[in-house]
Formats: sequence, structure tokens, C-alpha cells
Amino acid sequence: MSESFYLENKIALVTGAASGIGAATARELARAGAEVMIADIHLSAAESLAAEIPRSRALKIDVTSSDSIRLAFAEISKLDILVNNAGIGLVGDVSRTSEEDFERVMRVNVNSVFLMTKAALPLLLESHGSIVNIGSVAGSVGVKQRFAYCASKGAVQAMTRQIAVDYPKELRINCIAPGTVQTPFVEGYLDKYHAHEKDKVRAELVARQPIGRLGTPEDIASLVRFLCSKEAEFINGAVVPIDGGWTAA
Ligand code: NAD
Repeated sequence: MSESFYLENKIALVTGAASGIGAATARELARAGAEVMIADIHLSAAESLAAEIPRSRALKIDVTSSDSIRLAFAEISKLDILVNNAGIGLVGDVSRTSEEDFERVMRVNVNSVFLMTKAALPLLLESHGSIVNIGSVAGSVGVKQRFAYCASKGAVQAMTRQIAVDYPKELRINCIAPGTVQTPFVEGYLDKYHAHEKDKVRAELVARQPIGRLGTPEDIASLVRFLCSKEAEFINGAVVPIDGGWTAA
């Protein structure tokens, strides 16, 4: 009998997999037995990670570009798991958000899910596959000074539910809504906006999560693995919070 949450003989593609949550997810899916494509706009970082993970390979994809996605998919003949993880943040309330920045956040966080899912759909229908979208608590509750980011992650949740309704038996699609997770994404934010008060702001980020710590990329990766596994067969169109109790409050 095979172990629980195993993904042997599965082929997975993780976007934004060269860093943070995506990198931990690539490692975890491989540990579960899957073959993993490490897709990122930063090919050299993806290649370094692929060198460490058995049965993985790096793939250059800019998830905002349908041409880039088409080129990559021309080389893929089987796919069981798609993890739409690539994403960027932006700080600012509605009055401070420029049109250009808003559109950039929507392209990377929202258009990407549309374009990647559309490209992967024929293969996922053939394999009866599974999609996991990495959303955020910012799609479920208002987070101060995150106008564009909240809008984008709300759209990720809505796309997840909508696709689940159109393909209820053909594939599964779920969304994970993490709280604050210790990754280069958060470090970049602290460096850019709070360089002189990083410890104070880090403590504030911890304090809004009742468990009293930031998430780890591995916390999120374990949930991705579970959602892709046979044990999660009855979970579809769900948005699963993983936030140390933040949104329970
Ligand atoms: P990260 O910055 O560590 O990694 C993001 C990766 O995405 C990078 O490797 C980057 O090169 C890649 N990427 C960016 N633009 C791309 C593009 N156009 N095409 C392909 N790849 C691209 O970030 P992370 O913290 O691991 O975040 C991953 C996901 O998790 C994002 O969707 C983010 O919104 C979400 N999230 C993060 C947190 C957090 O606190 N870290 C919380 C909730 C949700």
C-alpha cells in the first residue's frame, strides 16, 4: 500500500517556483514522488533549485505573457498538477496606487492565473488533474494599504470558485489563502518600506497572527501537497485559509 498524500507518477508545474513558497512547494511535491517543473521568470534561480531536486527541471515562463506560456507548453505533453503561485505585492491605499502599478499587479497575480490555466486546461482535462492557486488572506479580508494586492487576490479566489463550477467532475481546483509567510517577498517589503524599523514592523506582522509567528514556506507547501493528493478528492472550489488564526479573529 502506498503512503498517504503520495503523488507518484504525477507531473507538476509550479510557477514562481524559484523562491519562497513556490520553491518549498517544488521540493515538497518532489518529496511526494512527483516530477516537478520549476517555472519562473528567473531561469538561473530555477536552474539552481532544479539541480537540488531529483526528477525536476527548470522552465523559463513569464506568467504575464501568453507567448512565453505558449512556448513553454509546446514542450509539455502531460500534466497532472498546476500550482499558480507566482505573484507580487504592492503597498498603497487607493489614492496612492497608480494606474500603472495597479495594472502590473493584476497582470502578475490575476492575468497569470487565467493564462496559465487556459494553457494547461487540455492536459489537465486529459489527466483529471488538479490546480492549486496561491491566493492570500488579502483576498478574504481588507488589509490596510494593500488596495491593488487585495483586489488581485480577491480575483484569484473568484476564479477558483468559477472554474470549479464549470469543470466539477473533470478536474479539481482549490485556492490557498496564506497569512504572512517568511519569504523574500516579505523581506523585500521590509527592506523597501521599513528599512529603519524592520524589527518593529516584523513584530507587528507576527502580532496579527494569533499563533504568534510568521508562516513558513513549508507550512504552505504541505497544504499544496495535500490538496493535490487523492485524499483531498472531495475538496473542490474551496478557499483554504492558512494564517495562524488571523482571519478567525
Ligand atoms: P517570492 O517573492 O519569494 O517568490 C515569487 C516568485 O515569483 C519569484 O521567484 C519570482 O521570480 C516569481 N515571479 C514573479 N513574477 C513572475 C512572472 N511574471 N513570471 C514568472 N515568475 C514570476 O514570493 P512568495 O512569498 O513565495 O509568494 C508566492 C505567492 O504567495 C505569491 O502569489 C504571493 O502573493 C503569495 N502569498 C505570499 C505571502 C507571504 O507572506 N509571503 C502571503 C500570502 C500570499
